[in-house]
Amino acid sequence: MPGTLYLVPTPIGNLGDLSARMADTLAQADFIAAEDTRVTLKLLNHLGLKKPMVSYYRHNTGESGAAVLSRLLSGENCALVTDAGTPAISDPGEELVRQCAQAGVSVVSIPGPCALVTALAASGLPTGRFTFEGFLAMNKKNRRAHLEELRGETRTMLFYEAPHKLLATLADLRDTFGPDRRISLCRELTKLHEEIRRTTLGEAVDWYSANPPKGEFVLVVEGGAPAAEEAPTLESGLARVSALREDGLSLRDAARQAAAELGLSRKALYDLALGKKPSENGD
Ligand code: SAM
Repeated sequence: MPGTLYLVPTPIGNLGDLSARMADTLAQADFIAAEDTRVTLKLLNHLGLKKPMVSYYRHNTGESGAAVLSRLLSGENCALVTDAGTPAISDPGEELVRQCAQAGVSVVSIPGPCALVTALAASGLPTGRFTFEGFLAMNKKNRRAHLEELRGETRTMLFYEAPHKLLATLADLRDTFGPDRRISLCRELTKLHEEIRRTTLGEAVDWYSANPPKGEFVLVVEGGAPAAEEAPTLESGLARVSALREDGLSLRDAARQAAAELGLSRKALYDLALGKKPSENGD
């Protein structure tokens, strides 16, 4: 019988966020697949655990993933951890989870620290609907293309960003969404210098031009205003008249009802439905 892959989140800056379930899962796993075994070794030392580890990182997911999967299929249990936060979220793991799902290996995701959720909750921006966009590409053309796709986005948008790329990204965000769009810059979450700067894209560019950014950031950007509903036209009125006629209304009643619903002239709709030029005046 195959073993289980456990996705074990780790603190994003505060060891106090380690939960009992995370520690138990690490203690009970047969082996640990770690993004960086040196980082995970410190965590295991903190917990007083000794465990066999294999490395599973961005550039060896093919080879290492196959070896981990084969051990899972032979019945071992594996805990997957990354350097910080939730595995498979802008971190290695997505591919391994897909392979396990395909091979019928159970995957158990332990809830825990995740920078994007921590930032969203504290952002002060709408949380009901949001889109997580991960890291923008390094390449300027690809970054612009990504942002162009988001131009009409009305949901709150979240991005991960490294400090050395922050200013360029803020400038691109400002150029795409305008300087007045609100942004919450969530920096060094759960750490000593945690800071949430709630401002606008224009002001954020000015601030970080004068104060070089330090630390890790999640950018939470307000969604755009929904497009205003288009004003009804005689053409849309005529379509409504046809629909009401199909429901069995007479032409006169359909024109009256469509006109009332859409705030259009009854006479104009009636004339148009008869193929006449709509009269200028009319109720
Ligand atoms: N899987 C991780 C998670 O879900 O939290 C994210 C890993 S990703 C490689 C690293 C990015 O997460 C950083 O560049 C930053 O954007 C964000 N991040 C991680 N820890 C953070 C923290 N303490 N404060 C703010 N952002 C953080």
